[in-house]
Amino acid sequence: MEAGVQKDRILALLQDIVGPEHASADPALLIPYSRDQHWPIAGTHMPDYVVRPKTVEEVQKILRLANRYRIPVIPVSSNTNIRGLTIPHHGGIMLDLKRMDYLEIDPKNRAAIIGPGVSCARLADEAEKYGLRPIIPGAPSTVNMLSNCLLRGVSNIGPRYGHTGDQVLGMEVVLPTGEILYTGAAAFPNVGPYFRYFGPDWAGLFQGQPGIMGVVTKMAVRLYPLPERQEMFMCGFTQRPGEPEEGPLRRAMAFMHDLMLHDPPVITFGVILHWVAAAITMVEKREDIDSFKGTLGDWVVLGSIEGSREFVKYGRSVVEKEIKKHWDNIDEGREVVLMSKMLKDELKAARRIFRWFRLGNYYALAWWGPLDRFDKYYFEALKIWRELGITEELSIVGIPAYPYVGQLTYYEFDSFWDSTDPQNTEKIKKFTEIMYQKMIDLGIYCWFRPYPGVYESTIPRLKGCMGELWYKVKKLLDPNNIMNPGKVFPE
Ligand SMILES: Cc1cc2nc3c(=O)[nH]c(=O)nc-3n(C[C@H](O)[C@H](O)[C@H](O)COP(=O)(O)OP(=O)(O)OC[C@H]3O[C@@H](n4cnc5c(N)ncnc54)[C@H](O)[C@@H]3O)c2cc1C
Repeated sequence: MEAGVQKDRILALLQDIVGPEHASADPALLIPYSRDQHWPIAGTHMPDYVVRPKTVEEVQKILRLANRYRIPVIPVSSNTNIRGLTIPHHGGIMLDLKRMDYLEIDPKNRAAIIGPGVSCARLADEAEKYGLRPIIPGAPSTVNMLSNCLLRGVSNIGPRYGHTGDQVLGMEVVLPTGEILYTGAAAFPNVGPYFRYFGPDWAGLFQGQPGIMGVVTKMAVRLYPLPERQEMFMCGFTQRPGEPEEGPLRRAMAFMHDLMLHDPPVITFGVILHWVAAAITMVEKREDIDSFKGTLGDWVVLGSIEGSREFVKYGRSVVEKEIKKHWDNIDEGREVVLMSKMLKDELKAARRIFRWFRLGNYYALAWWGPLDRFDKYYFEALKIWRELGITEELSIVGIPAYPYVGQLTYYEFDSFWDSTDPQNTEKIKKFTEIMYQKMIDLGIYCWFRPYPGVYESTIPRLKGCMGELWYKVKKLLDPNNIMNPGKVFPE
């Protein structure tokens, strides 16, 4: 059969499943799926179809069809992904899940059941009606919650509650071959899907990777009581005369470490920011960033205390004690004050973060590691950054995570670069390539996400058979390799 005829036939079959208005091969509709803002690094490619199922049965039928004809399927949720994870490098079907927007709040069980089309903002709004809140990522609030939990996203309030991947309970998953898997308590009749485990951690099979094992169609996540009161503090650390460049960061690390050692955790939001990272959510324009330098310090520790009035009173006394202990090491701030409306709004549903796109192409490389290596990670990377002659600032954030075992901290290098300059892009690519090795030399717990190229560079350096087993599991679940091919494992 000719390719064009075959394509028309597949389109007709897809339209039979979801209805003609929800399956298309129109290039005008396909173009937005062919790239994301990381295109200079991740590349671009057109898909063949976009399909928008509404029900789990439709997802099953689409996957069975894709298997029969060996067509790649790329699940897409809110499609704000910025690291090329949904670029259809081998063409195929964009399985756009936005119409699957089921949402149920179960206040008695402090949980929500969500479909892949539910945004963080919508979940936060609905939960708020019951005096509850979800643990959302620091990402734009239009991002969908389920996909962020799948990617084990990082939340600003991770120091108190852990990050978004930790909030997952039971799941409903359509396997690549079309069967349905319910994970944990979701597999048990007569009860809610509110416990994660039965046997192996089945839910974990689908987390931390870009849709290569199946399509998650429902997920239960934890909710927490809304805080009665929110307070915040900010402490700045600036290089002093005669002090090495690393000095202020080391002082900030020691302060954050002491804050994190308290049990129960006293800080809810907590982050160490390079001054550029502090500036980018505050300033209006790229040109204003430089003038922000020195305003809060070279490094900033920003934190919050949240909860009942009694808890906040207790938390404030602990934080004030820590500030007193570190008083001479802190250069700016030091006061605990009522939380600003801006920060409150951002913690509920991040919006200001969209400003980042005004600053240039957003580069990020993220990983997990112990807090006490922050200075090594940053200054070793900075040396390489400077050697490569990259003129933009290299920024970094560190967000410790509950329960802070192993000083667990999320790290992210950030930069905003001019991607219209090919030389710049080449330098950024080179930096990434070097860092894939360098960070393992410095000792990290793992990469935040399996970025393109990470598998090839990381797996050979790991102890034991993890890489082989990972690949075998993928083959077992997806024998025809239809799910987002080429993303984790090289083709
Ligand atoms: C300015 C900015 C700031 C950000 N800050 C943060 C942050 O602080 N914390 C954070 O965690 N993230 C952050 N991000 C990243 C962002 O949150 C993620 O890109 C986003 O959560 C991915 O969700 P998505 O719905 O866009 O996923 P998509 O891009 O649609 O999908 C992501 C991956 O998951 C797969 N997938 C999607 N849905 C399913 C499904 N139902 N079943 C199986 N596989 C699926 C896709 O195939 C893809 O590989 C930020 C992004 C931006 C733009």
